[in-house]
Amino acid sequence: MITLKFHVLQPLVAAVFLAVSCAPPSPKEAYQQKYGAPTVSTVEEYRRQVAQNPDRELVDLRAYLPDAVFDVVYATSRNFMGEPVYTSPGAYLCRPAAVALQAVQAELAEMGYGLKIWDAYRPYRVTVAFYEHVLDSTFAASPYTGSKHNRGCAVDLTLIDKATGEELAMPTLFDEFTPKAHVDFSDLPAAVLQNRELLIRTMASHGFTVYADEWWHFDFRDWEQYGLMDLEFEELESAEI
Ligand SMILES: [Zn+2]
Repeated sequence: MITLKFHVLQPLVAAVFLAVSCAPPSPKEAYQQKYGAPTVSTVEEYRRQVAQNPDRELVDLRAYLPDAVFDVVYATSRNFMGEPVYTSPGAYLCRPAAVALQAVQAELAEMGYGLKIWDAYRPYRVTVAFYEHVLDSTFAASPYTGSKHNRGCAVDLTLIDKATGEELAMPTLFDEFTPKAHVDFSDLPAAVLQNRELLIRTMASHGFTVYADEWWHFDFRDWEQYGLMDLEFEELESAEI
């Protein structure tokens, strides 16, 4: 009886399989197949990962840094892509990095300074878009390996005067991809060199290493332990962890 049922259903199963396998891949499937980097790309997978290790949760930086200024430029047109690439101005990091950034902020506050956050966790989708726009892996991470931003372990930021909220003078604007952005560039006013040094030193003392080509970009220690993530900010929120 069972055999007969399967026999009857077999052509139907084959037809469905054929239809599914011939369907064109979604944009997400297409770039995942193209670059082959493993990513966490479903809310279910993310929940499972956090259940195994709570440090994997990407937490909202606004809750951890209530005094910081947030200007998430990739949610605006004021970025090198010329259009918003984020669905909303989200700013998330893995929990240990957010806690470390709290300590950075506390140390800076004693000197009258604060933080302005430009970018933190970045969905892998956006790293693919950046790379395909510039086709250069100096300033845009290769999608074959992904960015530390995709792991919730990198943050782009600068210093502000706590009293006024104004940015301190730094070598370049954010995402100004020139030799002046390199951390060894020294033909700068003394105050700018001091500000850059203060940022790099304070971040380093809490586990963040500056990226040599971009004075504003910092990677959190142990980033290798965190996987590449391809969830939108709204999906992180919908996980309700
Ligand atoms: Zn960065």
